[in-house]
Amino acid sequence: MAKTHTNSYQYVLDPFTRDELYHISQVKRFFECYEGDAQFRAAVNSGQINAEQQRRMKQIGIDFHPREIALLWEKPEIIEKFTSRMCSTEHSFISEEHAELLNDYPLLELWLRFILRKRMQFKKICAQRLPISKNTRFENWRQRRIASVQSELGAFGRHIDHPILAIELSEGCSVQCWFCSFSSKKLQKILDYNQSNDFFRGIAQVCTDIFGGKTAGMALLYYATEPCDNPHYIDYMQDFADITGSYVCTSTAVSTNKKWIDDLLAFYRPKNLPWPRLSVLSTKMLNKIHDQHSPYELRDVSMIMQMKDSERPKVPGGRIFEEKGDMRERDSTNYLQNVIPQGSIACVTGFYINLVRKDIKLVSPCFTSEKWPYGYRVFDEASFDTVEDFHSTVLEMIDNMPQKPPANMPLRLRDDIICRPLANGFDLVSPNQIHHFHNKSVFHVLGELLMNTPVSYQDASDILVDKYRQDLFAVHAVLKHLFNNGFLDEVKLNTREPTIGILS
Ligand code: SF4
Repeated sequence: MAKTHTNSYQYVLDPFTRDELYHISQVKRFFECYEGDAQFRAAVNSGQINAEQQRRMKQIGIDFHPREIALLWEKPEIIEKFTSRMCSTEHSFISEEHAELLNDYPLLELWLRFILRKRMQFKKICAQRLPISKNTRFENWRQRRIASVQSELGAFGRHIDHPILAIELSEGCSVQCWFCSFSSKKLQKILDYNQSNDFFRGIAQVCTDIFGGKTAGMALLYYATEPCDNPHYIDYMQDFADITGSYVCTSTAVSTNKKWIDDLLAFYRPKNLPWPRLSVLSTKMLNKIHDQHSPYELRDVSMIMQMKDSERPKVPGGRIFEEKGDMRERDSTNYLQNVIPQGSIACVTGFYINLVRKDIKLVSPCFTSEKWPYGYRVFDEASFDTVEDFHSTVLEMIDNMPQKPPANMPLRLRDDIICRPLANGFDLVSPNQIHHFHNKSVFHVLGELLMNTPVSYQDASDILVDKYRQDLFAVHAVLKHLFNNGFLDEVKLNTREPTIGILS
């Protein structure tokens, strides 16, 4: 039976009238030009938008006069203040003094209210970390990984919503973007809809049975692939929604294919969903998109400016990683002295599945490095053949996720963490944060153990209790804390052998 569908984006749209949304879509388009066109950006920054640029604005559906938003270049510091304060609370981002100024710029005020609402909604999605999965063992593993991402990526990690599934419907990618963080290879093959529909629906059903529909719906039907490469991509999305009850998001770099974008808009718009998201690879491409679609048609569509001269920094993974080298190598001399300028393009904390190759990886985002060039760690991998095989393989991977620190597992820190011993304990230093373990006698001796060749959990516990006379409960509490908060390296755990917990 078809499931019901949920939509939290409606919260963003609800307070605005149709007329207001019409104006908002025009301001949105203005900012797309600002972000994606270096010449236009320079003109706005200097307050010198010339006649030709104004003509172009009109041509692409921006009906207001630039003077209606002149606060942007007359008092840019105020706009900056608004946008940075937006991250705090919904009602206090505009001071009384500035609110008065905005009275003269109602279009900007409307726009700021809209993007504030959008940010609040996204923050909420990231903060709630998911509808809880039916499978507790997986859920606990996932919460450890999310804690680990937040420790490792700092503020960057807070913008990741951690879908649990990426299901690719092709192998390779036809677009071959210069910045591809996944270094996707050329398109090889696609999953044939007519021949594989039962297979696809079977996979979606297995995921729903294991995790629950709402959690399984936290998915992408692409990852290191381009959705447009599969001509039945939208049919697959509908099938997936019928089984899980959730419509999934789409990001595409084939942004100037009018029919493709029209089809996606026809799919999402009646449901008031904020997709597709478009990757824009050049200013020429941006212009073409603006020529092909009106501002209101693209009201809910985010554009991600990927041109080389874009002010938006790129995650140095995949192909760019190859150019820039291992960011972690800076760490030995520069650890935490500067914010490491990257997050991860990866977002899935769960199962990364390719239905053409029929393989599964258990993954979670991390800082890009020589070892993890695509910005995700791989905790386990396997291949499968049939739907039944897929079912048992996923369950086997979940069975292998320990619920407690396993006795035979080495007490080893995550590979991004440096342990800094101190007189009163130790600090764990990740690329973006310091975690303090101070002022307890168990911390002092544990710090030394963490610095040296790893011993097993069981041995660590015995050494701390027998040799260093530490309290058994304090030892178990701190080991459990390290484990539950994702500080420990679980990559090596996947021996596919049952693990025995030492801590209750
Ligand atoms: S970024 Fe996306 S569209 Fe571009 S090459 Fe990589 S997978 Fe393909």
